[in-house]
Amino acid sequence: MRLDPDTTALIATDQELWRDFNDICDRGGRLAGSESEKRAFALLRERVRAASPANSGRSIPVPYGGWRATRAALALAEGGTVSCHPLVRTIATAECGLTAEVIDLGRGTPEEFDAHAAEIKGRIVLVRHELMFAAGTIHRRRKYDMARTHGAVGFLIAGPLAGHVVAGSSGRESGDGIPALGISPETAARLARRAAGWPTATMTIETEEGPAETETLVYDYPGQSDEWVVLSAHVDGHDLAESAMDNGTGLAAVLAVTRALAPRAAGFRRGLRVMFFSVEEWALTGSAQYVKALGEPERAKIALNVNLDSVAGSPHLAALSSGYGGVEPFLLGVAEANGQNLRTVRPLMTNSDHANFALGGIPAIRLVAGFDDPAAHLRVVLTPADTRDKVAQSELRQATLLTAALVAAACNADPAEAATWRMKQVPA
Ligand SMILES: [Zn+2]
Repeated sequence: MRLDPDTTALIATDQELWRDFNDICDRGGRLAGSESEKRAFALLRERVRAASPANSGRSIPVPYGGWRATRAALALAEGGTVSCHPLVRTIATAECGLTAEVIDLGRGTPEEFDAHAAEIKGRIVLVRHELMFAAGTIHRRRKYDMARTHGAVGFLIAGPLAGHVVAGSSGRESGDGIPALGISPETAARLARRAAGWPTATMTIETEEGPAETETLVYDYPGQSDEWVVLSAHVDGHDLAESAMDNGTGLAAVLAVTRALAPRAAGFRRGLRVMFFSVEEWALTGSAQYVKALGEPERAKIALNVNLDSVAGSPHLAALSSGYGGVEPFLLGVAEANGQNLRTVRPLMTNSDHANFALGGIPAIRLVAGFDDPAAHLRVVLTPADTRDKVAQSELRQATLLTAALVAAACNADPAEAATWRMKQVPA
Protein backbone atom coordinates (compact mmCIF):
# COMPACT_ATOMS: atom_id res chain seq x y z
CA MET A 1 0.00 0.00 0.00
CA ARG A 2 2.95 2.28 0.60
CA LEU A 3 4.31 3.97 -2.50
CA ASP A 4 7.82 2.66 -3.14
CA PRO A 5 10.67 4.98 -2.12
CA ASP A 6 11.95 5.50 -5.68
CA THR A 7 8.60 6.71 -7.00
CA THR A 8 8.05 8.81 -3.88
CA ALA A 9 11.41 10.49 -4.37
CA LEU A 10 10.74 10.98 -8.07
CA ILE A 11 7.51 12.86 -7.42
CA ALA A 12 8.80 14.70 -4.35
CA THR A 13 11.58 16.22 -6.47
CA ASP A 14 9.78 16.47 -9.84
CA GLN A 15 10.43 20.06 -10.93
CA GLU A 16 8.15 19.60 -13.91
CA LEU A 17 5.04 19.35 -11.72
CA TRP A 18 5.07 23.06 -10.90
CA ARG A 19 6.26 24.00 -14.39
CA ASP A 20 3.37 22.05 -15.96
CA PHE A 21 0.84 23.69 -13.64
CA ASN A 22 2.06 27.16 -14.59
CA ASP A 23 2.25 26.29 -18.28
CA ILE A 24 -1.35 25.02 -18.22
CA CYS A 25 -2.48 28.26 -16.53
CA ASP A 26 -0.54 30.21 -19.18
CA ARG A 27 -2.71 28.58 -21.87
CA GLY A 28 -5.73 30.47 -20.47
CA GLY A 29 -9.13 29.46 -19.07
CA ARG A 30 -9.67 26.68 -21.70
CA LEU A 31 -13.35 27.26 -22.46
CA ALA A 32 -14.46 24.41 -24.75
CA GLY A 33 -14.30 25.52 -28.37
CA SER A 34 -11.71 28.23 -27.72
CA GLU A 35 -8.14 28.48 -28.97
CA SER A 36 -7.15 28.28 -25.30
CA GLU A 37 -8.61 24.75 -25.05
CA LYS A 38 -6.69 23.70 -28.19
CA ARG A 39 -3.44 25.11 -26.83
CA ALA A 40 -3.94 23.13 -23.62
CA PHE A 41 -4.49 19.86 -25.54
CA ALA A 42 -1.32 20.53 -27.53
CA LEU A 43 0.63 21.09 -24.33
CA LEU A 44 -0.68 17.86 -22.77
CA ARG A 45 0.29 15.87 -25.89
CA GLU A 46 3.78 17.34 -25.78
CA ARG A 47 4.25 16.59 -22.07
CA VAL A 48 2.96 13.01 -22.29
CA ARG A 49 5.18 12.41 -25.33
CA ALA A 50 8.16 13.60 -23.33
CA ALA A 51 7.25 11.14 -20.57
CA SER A 52 6.64 8.17 -22.87
CA PRO A 53 7.92 8.77 -26.42
CA ALA A 54 6.81 5.33 -27.62
CA ASN A 55 3.16 5.93 -26.73
CA SER A 56 1.38 8.29 -29.10
CA GLY A 57 -1.99 7.66 -27.46
CA ARG A 58 -5.28 7.95 -29.25
CA SER A 59 -7.81 10.70 -29.71
CA ILE A 60 -11.53 9.99 -29.51
CA PRO A 61 -13.62 12.61 -31.34
CA VAL A 62 -16.29 14.20 -29.14
CA PRO A 63 -19.08 15.93 -31.07
CA TYR A 64 -21.09 18.39 -29.02
CA GLY A 65 -23.33 21.41 -29.34
CA GLY A 66 -20.94 24.30 -29.88
CA TRP A 67 -21.79 27.63 -28.31
CA ARG A 68 -20.21 31.03 -27.96
CA ALA A 69 -21.54 34.26 -26.49
CA THR A 70 -20.74 37.31 -28.59
CA ARG A 71 -22.45 39.77 -26.27
CA ALA A 72 -23.85 39.81 -22.73
CA ALA A 73 -25.19 42.82 -20.86
CA LEU A 74 -27.34 43.54 -17.84
CA ALA A 75 -29.00 46.92 -17.28
CA LEU A 76 -30.91 47.90 -14.15
CA ALA A 77 -34.04 50.03 -14.51
CA GLU A 78 -32.87 52.24 -11.65
CA GLY A 79 -29.96 53.14 -13.89
CA GLY A 80 -26.67 51.79 -15.07
CA THR A 81 -25.20 48.75 -16.75
CA VAL A 82 -23.52 46.24 -14.43
CA SER A 83 -20.97 43.55 -15.20
CA CYS A 84 -22.22 40.05 -15.92
CA HIS A 85 -21.02 36.79 -17.45
CA PRO A 86 -23.08 34.53 -19.74
CA LEU A 87 -23.59 31.01 -18.37
CA VAL A 88 -22.40 28.32 -20.77
CA ARG A 89 -25.02 27.45 -23.37
CA THR A 90 -27.44 30.17 -22.32
CA ILE A 91 -29.95 31.02 -25.03
CA ALA A 92 -29.84 34.44 -26.65
CA THR A 93 -32.43 37.12 -25.97
CA ALA A 94 -34.26 39.13 -28.60
CA GLU A 95 -32.08 41.88 -30.00
CA CYS A 96 -33.76 44.49 -27.82
CA GLY A 97 -33.12 42.34 -24.75
CA LEU A 98 -35.43 40.80 -22.18
CA THR A 99 -36.95 43.21 -19.67
CA ALA A 100 -38.73 41.84 -16.60
CA GLU A 101 -39.01 42.16 -12.84
CA VAL A 102 -36.41 40.31 -10.80
CA ILE A 103 -37.50 38.06 -7.94
CA ASP A 104 -34.76 37.28 -5.42
CA LEU A 105 -35.10 33.70 -4.13
CA GLY A 106 -32.05 33.84 -1.87
CA ARG A 107 -30.00 30.68 -2.08
CA GLY A 108 -32.58 29.16 -4.40
CA THR A 109 -33.56 26.06 -2.44
CA PRO A 110 -36.57 23.96 -3.49
CA GLU A 111 -38.38 25.40 -0.43
CA GLU A 112 -37.78 28.96 -1.61
CA PHE A 113 -39.04 28.12 -5.10
CA ASP A 114 -42.11 26.43 -3.58
CA ALA A 115 -42.92 29.30 -1.25
CA HIS A 116 -42.82 31.81 -4.12
CA ALA A 117 -44.34 29.49 -6.73
CA ALA A 118 -47.16 31.90 -7.59
CA GLU A 119 -44.80 34.88 -8.08
CA ILE A 120 -42.12 33.44 -10.36
CA LYS A 121 -43.96 33.19 -13.67
CA GLY A 122 -42.92 35.93 -16.10
CA ARG A 123 -40.12 37.22 -13.86
CA ILE A 124 -36.34 36.82 -13.79
CA VAL A 125 -35.22 34.57 -10.93
CA LEU A 126 -32.18 35.58 -8.84
CA VAL A 127 -30.35 32.92 -6.80
CA ARG A 128 -26.92 32.50 -5.17
CA HIS A 129 -23.96 30.41 -6.31
CA GLU A 130 -22.88 28.21 -3.44
CA LEU A 131 -19.78 26.32 -2.35
CA MET A 132 -19.75 23.41 -4.77
CA PHE A 133 -17.65 21.07 -2.71
CA ALA A 134 -19.89 20.61 0.28
CA ALA A 135 -22.50 18.18 1.54
CA GLY A 136 -26.01 19.30 0.65
CA THR A 137 -24.90 21.77 -1.99
CA ILE A 138 -27.62 22.59 -4.52
CA HIS A 139 -26.13 22.67 -7.99
CA ARG A 140 -26.68 25.71 -10.20
CA ARG A 141 -28.23 23.47 -12.88
CA ARG A 142 -30.96 22.36 -10.47
CA LYS A 143 -31.79 25.99 -9.67
CA TYR A 144 -31.90 26.82 -13.36
CA ASP A 145 -34.23 23.87 -13.96
CA MET A 146 -36.49 24.91 -11.07
CA ALA A 147 -36.63 28.46 -12.44
CA ARG A 148 -37.74 27.12 -15.82
CA THR A 149 -40.30 24.75 -14.32
CA HIS A 150 -41.85 27.63 -12.40
CA GLY A 151 -42.19 29.75 -15.53
CA ALA A 152 -39.34 32.20 -14.99
CA VAL A 153 -38.27 34.10 -18.12
CA GLY A 154 -34.64 34.68 -17.06
CA PHE A 155 -32.04 33.44 -14.58
CA LEU A 156 -29.43 35.37 -12.61
CA ILE A 157 -26.91 33.77 -10.26
CA ALA A 158 -24.79 35.86 -7.89
CA GLY A 159 -21.21 34.82 -7.20
CA PRO A 160 -19.56 34.47 -3.79
CA LEU A 161 -16.75 36.94 -4.27
CA ALA A 162 -17.09 40.69 -3.68
CA GLY A 163 -16.66 42.69 -6.87
CA HIS A 164 -16.65 39.65 -9.15
CA VAL A 165 -19.12 37.90 -11.39
CA VAL A 166 -19.40 34.10 -11.54
CA ALA A 167 -19.30 31.60 -14.43
CA GLY A 168 -20.78 28.15 -14.85
CA SER A 169 -22.99 26.15 -17.13
CA SER A 170 -26.72 26.62 -17.48
CA GLY A 171 -27.01 22.87 -18.06
CA ARG A 172 -29.07 23.47 -21.19
CA GLU A 173 -28.14 21.02 -23.94
CA SER A 174 -29.97 22.43 -26.94
CA GLY A 175 -33.39 23.76 -27.77
CA ASP A 176 -35.49 25.64 -25.26
CA GLY A 177 -34.12 27.50 -22.29
CA ILE A 178 -34.08 30.87 -20.56
CA PRO A 179 -31.34 33.51 -20.72
CA ALA A 180 -28.86 33.04 -17.87
CA LEU A 181 -26.16 35.36 -16.49
CA GLY A 182 -23.68 35.27 -13.61
CA ILE A 183 -23.46 38.52 -11.60
CA SER A 184 -21.61 39.95 -8.60
CA PRO A 185 -22.97 39.96 -5.03
CA GLU A 186 -23.15 43.78 -5.17
CA THR A 187 -25.46 43.64 -8.19
CA ALA A 188 -27.60 41.07 -6.39
CA ALA A 189 -27.91 43.49 -3.45
CA ARG A 190 -29.17 46.18 -5.81
CA LEU A 191 -31.83 43.76 -7.07
CA ALA A 192 -33.42 43.23 -3.65
CA ARG A 193 -37.18 43.64 -3.39
CA ARG A 194 -38.37 47.11 -2.25
CA ALA A 195 -41.55 48.31 -0.61
CA ALA A 196 -42.54 49.55 -4.07
CA GLY A 197 -42.16 46.06 -5.55
CA TRP A 198 -39.66 44.00 -7.53
CA PRO A 199 -36.93 45.88 -9.38
CA THR A 200 -36.75 45.62 -13.15
CA ALA A 201 -33.72 44.63 -15.23
CA THR A 202 -32.90 44.06 -18.90
CA MET A 203 -30.80 41.07 -19.98
CA THR A 204 -29.27 41.21 -23.48
CA ILE A 205 -27.42 38.16 -24.83
CA GLU A 206 -26.19 37.32 -28.32
CA THR A 207 -24.81 33.85 -29.09
CA GLU A 208 -23.57 31.66 -31.91
CA GLU A 209 -24.44 27.97 -31.87
CA GLY A 210 -23.61 25.08 -34.16
CA PRO A 211 -22.13 21.59 -34.28
CA ALA A 212 -18.65 21.45 -32.76
CA GLU A 213 -16.09 18.80 -31.98
CA THR A 214 -13.43 18.35 -29.34
CA GLU A 215 -11.65 15.21 -28.18
CA THR A 216 -10.81 12.81 -25.39
CA LEU A 217 -7.12 11.89 -25.19
CA VAL A 218 -6.27 8.34 -24.08
CA TYR A 219 -2.89 6.82 -23.24
CA ASP A 220 -2.77 3.11 -22.40
CA TYR A 221 0.15 1.61 -20.45
CA PRO A 222 -0.74 -2.11 -20.31
CA GLY A 223 -0.07 -4.19 -17.23
CA GLN A 224 0.09 -7.98 -16.94
CA SER A 225 -3.66 -8.54 -17.24
CA ASP A 226 -6.29 -6.97 -19.48
CA GLU A 227 -7.68 -4.92 -16.57
CA TRP A 228 -7.24 -1.18 -16.15
CA VAL A 229 -7.11 1.60 -13.64
CA VAL A 230 -8.27 4.84 -15.28
CA LEU A 231 -6.63 8.06 -14.13
CA SER A 232 -8.51 11.09 -15.50
CA ALA A 233 -8.78 14.88 -15.40
CA HIS A 234 -10.74 17.42 -17.42
CA VAL A 235 -9.00 19.93 -19.66
CA ASP A 236 -11.70 22.53 -20.19
CA GLY A 237 -12.58 25.47 -17.97
CA HIS A 238 -14.04 28.95 -18.16
CA ASP A 239 -12.82 32.12 -19.83
CA LEU A 240 -13.03 34.38 -16.76
CA ALA A 241 -9.52 33.54 -15.59
CA GLU A 242 -7.01 30.71 -15.97
CA SER A 243 -9.07 27.91 -14.35
CA ALA A 244 -6.05 27.20 -12.16
CA MET A 245 -7.56 25.16 -9.32
CA ASP A 246 -10.34 23.80 -11.58
CA ASN A 247 -8.64 22.02 -13.18
CA GLY A 248 -5.04 23.05 -13.83
CA THR A 249 -4.19 21.25 -10.60
CA GLY A 250 -5.71 17.95 -11.74
CA LEU A 251 -3.99 18.09 -15.14
CA ALA A 252 -0.55 18.81 -13.68
CA ALA A 253 -0.94 16.01 -11.14
CA VAL A 254 -1.99 13.50 -13.84
CA LEU A 255 1.07 14.44 -15.93
CA ALA A 256 3.41 13.94 -12.96
CA VAL A 257 1.84 10.60 -12.01
CA THR A 258 2.11 9.48 -15.64
CA ARG A 259 5.81 10.38 -15.69
CA ALA A 260 6.39 8.40 -12.51
CA LEU A 261 4.24 5.32 -13.15
CA ALA A 262 4.09 4.79 -16.93
CA PRO A 263 7.64 3.36 -17.13
CA ARG A 264 6.70 0.79 -14.45
CA ALA A 265 3.18 -0.13 -15.58
CA ALA A 266 4.31 -3.23 -17.50
CA GLY A 267 5.15 -4.81 -14.15
CA PHE A 268 1.76 -3.97 -12.60
CA ARG A 269 -1.09 -6.46 -12.36
CA ARG A 270 -3.42 -3.95 -14.07
CA GLY A 271 -2.57 -1.40 -16.73
CA LEU A 272 -2.68 2.37 -16.32
CA ARG A 273 -5.06 4.24 -18.65
CA VAL A 274 -4.54 8.01 -18.60
CA MET A 275 -7.47 10.06 -19.91
CA PHE A 276 -7.96 13.76 -20.57
CA PHE A 277 -11.62 14.72 -21.04
CA SER A 278 -13.13 17.95 -22.31
CA VAL A 279 -16.60 19.54 -22.27
CA GLU A 280 -16.73 18.51 -18.60
CA GLU A 281 -18.03 21.98 -17.78
CA TRP A 282 -20.77 21.30 -20.35
CA ALA A 283 -22.71 18.64 -18.45
CA LEU A 284 -19.82 16.11 -18.38
CA THR A 285 -20.23 15.44 -22.10
CA GLY A 286 -16.80 13.92 -22.95
CA SER A 287 -16.84 11.27 -20.25
CA ALA A 288 -20.55 10.57 -20.81
CA GLN A 289 -19.85 9.66 -24.45
CA TYR A 290 -16.82 7.55 -23.49
CA VAL A 291 -18.58 5.43 -20.86
CA LYS A 292 -21.74 5.07 -22.95
CA ALA A 293 -19.68 3.62 -25.81
CA LEU A 294 -18.05 0.97 -23.59
CA GLY A 295 -19.56 -2.51 -23.73
CA GLU A 296 -20.29 -4.40 -20.52
CA PRO A 297 -17.09 -6.54 -20.79
CA GLU A 298 -14.97 -3.40 -21.17
CA ARG A 299 -16.62 -1.78 -18.15
CA ALA A 300 -15.96 -4.89 -16.11
CA LYS A 301 -12.26 -4.62 -16.97
CA ILE A 302 -11.94 -1.16 -15.42
CA ALA A 303 -11.20 -1.82 -11.77
CA LEU A 304 -11.30 1.82 -10.69
CA ASN A 305 -11.51 5.37 -12.03
CA VAL A 306 -9.45 7.91 -10.11
CA ASN A 307 -10.61 11.34 -11.32
CA LEU A 308 -8.68 14.43 -10.29
CA ASP A 309 -10.67 17.66 -10.26
CA SER A 310 -9.55 20.68 -8.21
CA VAL A 311 -7.02 18.85 -6.05
CA ALA A 312 -5.19 21.86 -4.56
CA GLY A 313 -6.23 25.20 -3.09
CA SER A 314 -6.53 23.64 0.36
CA PRO A 315 -4.28 21.08 2.09
CA HIS A 316 -7.31 18.92 2.96
CA LEU A 317 -8.19 16.18 0.49
CA ALA A 318 -11.39 14.23 0.18
CA ALA A 319 -12.29 11.25 -1.98
CA LEU A 320 -15.88 11.24 -3.22
CA SER A 321 -16.60 7.53 -3.44
CA SER A 322 -19.74 7.87 -5.57
CA GLY A 323 -21.81 5.38 -3.61
CA TYR A 324 -19.12 2.68 -3.80
CA GLY A 325 -18.69 2.18 -0.05
CA GLY A 326 -16.64 -0.92 -0.72
CA VAL A 327 -13.72 1.13 -2.03
CA GLU A 328 -13.40 3.28 1.10
CA PRO A 329 -11.27 0.90 3.23
CA PHE A 330 -8.81 0.70 0.32
CA LEU A 331 -8.65 4.50 -0.03
CA LEU A 332 -8.16 5.07 3.69
CA GLY A 333 -5.61 2.26 3.90
CA VAL A 334 -3.47 3.74 1.13
CA ALA A 335 -3.72 7.24 2.60
CA GLU A 336 -2.69 6.03 6.06
CA ALA A 337 0.15 3.89 4.76
CA ASN A 338 1.50 7.00 3.03
CA GLY A 339 1.07 9.32 6.00
CA GLN A 340 -1.74 11.36 4.44
CA ASN A 341 -5.09 12.43 5.81
CA LEU A 342 -8.02 11.62 3.60
CA ARG A 343 -11.73 11.98 4.17
CA THR A 344 -14.20 9.86 2.26
CA VAL A 345 -17.61 11.19 1.21
CA ARG A 346 -20.03 8.59 -0.02
CA PRO A 347 -23.07 10.10 -1.79
CA LEU A 348 -22.71 10.18 -5.56
CA MET A 349 -21.97 13.77 -6.56
CA THR A 350 -22.43 14.38 -10.26
CA ASN A 351 -19.94 17.24 -10.28
CA SER A 352 -17.18 15.79 -12.44
CA ASP A 353 -16.33 13.01 -14.89
CA HIS A 354 -16.12 10.26 -12.24
CA ALA A 355 -19.93 10.41 -12.04
CA ASN A 356 -20.32 8.91 -15.52
CA PHE A 357 -18.05 5.98 -14.62
CA ALA A 358 -19.98 5.44 -11.37
CA LEU A 359 -23.33 5.59 -13.14
CA GLY A 360 -21.96 3.11 -15.68
CA GLY A 361 -21.28 0.53 -12.95
CA ILE A 362 -17.56 1.26 -12.62
CA PRO A 363 -16.12 2.04 -9.16
CA ALA A 364 -15.09 5.70 -9.40
CA ILE A 365 -13.73 8.33 -7.08
CA ARG A 366 -13.10 12.03 -7.40
CA LEU A 367 -10.21 13.45 -5.46
CA VAL A 368 -10.99 17.05 -4.45
CA ALA A 369 -9.41 19.59 -2.09
CA GLY A 370 -11.23 21.76 0.44
CA PHE A 371 -14.43 19.72 0.71
CA ASP A 372 -16.85 21.21 3.28
CA ASP A 373 -14.39 24.03 4.00
CA PRO A 374 -16.04 27.41 3.32
CA ALA A 375 -12.73 29.16 3.95
CA ALA A 376 -10.74 27.18 1.37
CA HIS A 377 -9.63 28.92 -1.82
CA LEU A 378 -11.86 26.46 -3.67
CA ARG A 379 -14.79 28.73 -2.87
CA VAL A 380 -13.67 31.05 -5.70
CA VAL A 381 -13.66 28.36 -8.38
CA LEU A 382 -15.69 29.64 -11.38
CA THR A 383 -14.81 33.28 -10.58
CA PRO A 384 -12.01 35.44 -12.04
CA ALA A 385 -10.07 34.64 -8.85
CA ASP A 386 -9.40 31.00 -9.83
CA THR A 387 -5.77 31.87 -10.44
CA ARG A 388 -2.48 30.13 -9.73
CA ASP A 389 -1.70 32.22 -6.63
CA LYS A 390 -4.46 30.27 -4.79
CA VAL A 391 -2.45 27.06 -5.07
CA ALA A 392 0.47 26.18 -2.80
CA GLN A 393 3.10 24.04 -4.44
CA SER A 394 3.11 21.81 -1.34
CA GLU A 395 -0.63 21.13 -1.73
CA LEU A 396 -0.26 20.14 -5.37
CA ARG A 397 2.67 17.86 -4.55
CA GLN A 398 0.79 16.24 -1.68
CA ALA A 399 -2.21 15.53 -3.92
CA THR A 400 0.10 14.14 -6.60
CA LEU A 401 1.83 11.81 -4.13
CA LEU A 402 -1.49 10.53 -2.82
CA THR A 403 -2.75 9.99 -6.37
CA ALA A 404 0.36 8.04 -7.33
CA ALA A 405 0.00 5.89 -4.22
CA LEU A 406 -3.69 5.22 -4.92
CA VAL A 407 -3.13 4.41 -8.58
CA ALA A 408 -0.11 2.16 -8.00
CA ALA A 409 -1.90 0.30 -5.21
CA ALA A 410 -5.05 -0.05 -7.34
CA CYS A 411 -3.00 -1.40 -10.23
CA ASN A 412 -1.45 -4.02 -7.96
CA ALA A 413 -4.33 -4.95 -5.63
CA ASP A 414 -5.23 -8.61 -5.66
CA PRO A 415 -8.46 -9.59 -7.45
CA ALA A 416 -10.31 -10.38 -4.21
CA GLU A 417 -9.68 -6.88 -2.89
CA ALA A 418 -10.54 -5.24 -6.22
CA ALA A 419 -13.85 -7.16 -6.21
CA THR A 420 -14.87 -5.37 -3.00
CA TRP A 421 -14.60 -1.97 -4.75
CA ARG A 422 -17.69 -2.80 -6.79
CA MET A 423 -19.75 -3.16 -3.59
CA LYS A 424 -22.04 -0.37 -2.45
CA GLN A 425 -21.35 -1.00 1.23
CA VAL A 426 -18.18 -1.57 3.21
CA PRO A 427 -17.75 -5.36 3.24
CA ALA A 428 -18.46 -6.89 6.66
ZN1 LIG B 1 -13.79 20.74 -12.54
